[in-house]
Amino acid sequence: MVRLSSAAHGQGVFAERPYAAGEVILVFTGKELSTAEADRRDVRRHCLDVGSGLQLYVEAPARFLNHSCDPNAGLRDAVTLAAIRAIPAGEEIRFDYSTCVPDASWALDCRCESPLCRGRVVAFPRLDAKTRRRLLDLKIVPAWLRV
Ligand SMILES: [Zn+2]
Repeated sequence: MVRLSSAAHGQGVFAERPYAAGEVILVFTGKELSTAEADRRDVRRHCLDVGSGLQLYVEAPARFLNHSCDPNAGLRDAVTLAAIRAIPAGEEIRFDYSTCVPDASWALDCRCESPLCRGRVVAFPRLDAKTRRRLLDLKIVPAWLRV
């Protein structure tokens, strides 16, 4: 179980109970849209890339998951979020947005304050080789995005 609450930068999703490493936290649900349709409707900021040219218009609370460059959760497949490590109750659940974005033009300034903070979050294919390898080794890059 998770709940929405205020986080460092707007709303976030928080663990309501402890999660063990590897445990599934949530499955993203919502309406599937083509990327063109999501852009036309100006809802990309609420969407998760789930395939090439394919978006999921994500429902709450997952819509409010924030990014971290040193996340405690990651995508096991296109829509399943699992704990990377043990997560105590009350901790904010965050994943690495680079693990779901293919668009070379996409970027986000990050202030996650982790020692691993990249400062600028970019699409998975544009990450440096070391960061790509770290995310792949954590098994949090969905198959469709692996290059
Ligand atoms: Zn960061």
